[in-house]
Amino acid sequence: MHNSPPFKYLVGYPTQTIAQLEQIIKDNRLGELLLQKYPDTHRVRTDKQLYEYSTALKNHYLSNAQPLNRVRYDSKIKVIQHALGQHHYINRVQGNKIKAVNEIKIASLFRVAPEAFLRMIIVHELAHFKEKEHNKSFYQLCRHMEPNYHQYEFDLRLYLTHLDLYGELYS
Ligand SMILES: [Zn+2]
Repeated sequence: MHNSPPFKYLVGYPTQTIAQLEQIIKDNRLGELLLQKYPDTHRVRTDKQLYEYSTALKNHYLSNAQPLNRVRYDSKIKVIQHALGQHHYINRVQGNKIKAVNEIKIASLFRVAPEAFLRMIIVHELAHFKEKEHNKSFYQLCRHMEPNYHQYEFDLRLYLTHLDLYGELYS
């Protein structure tokens, strides 16, 4: 029951947390709570701005990882459970050379969203530069880049729940 919509984004969270959320939704307070905590949206609207924002984070925390070649918003990414963004490592053959291309795609619904959520997703995708799996060192790296990583992820899941139930919160 708890795993069915609208709580599909909170699979794996404690039963008590889900019960609290159920109460908040019953009281019709989810949007209000989110707006209180995250009143503003970021201004990273174009793919160019997104690339610059991500590159600044990458250069600050992962300066010796492979270069980040492309970052863009993608309307084709279906936001389900864990897939909030995508990281691709493509080997492109150019003539007789193989060129590695690191690309990050962000679901385009985050184009208009609080900065905390965008940052959390980019941090997640950048952490995959070093760790393929969602293991302990992966999340350590996420927290290194963003100490509030887990809180932001949880709140982002509340935001997705809000989108499913009531539609857009920001414009
Ligand atoms: Zn991941």
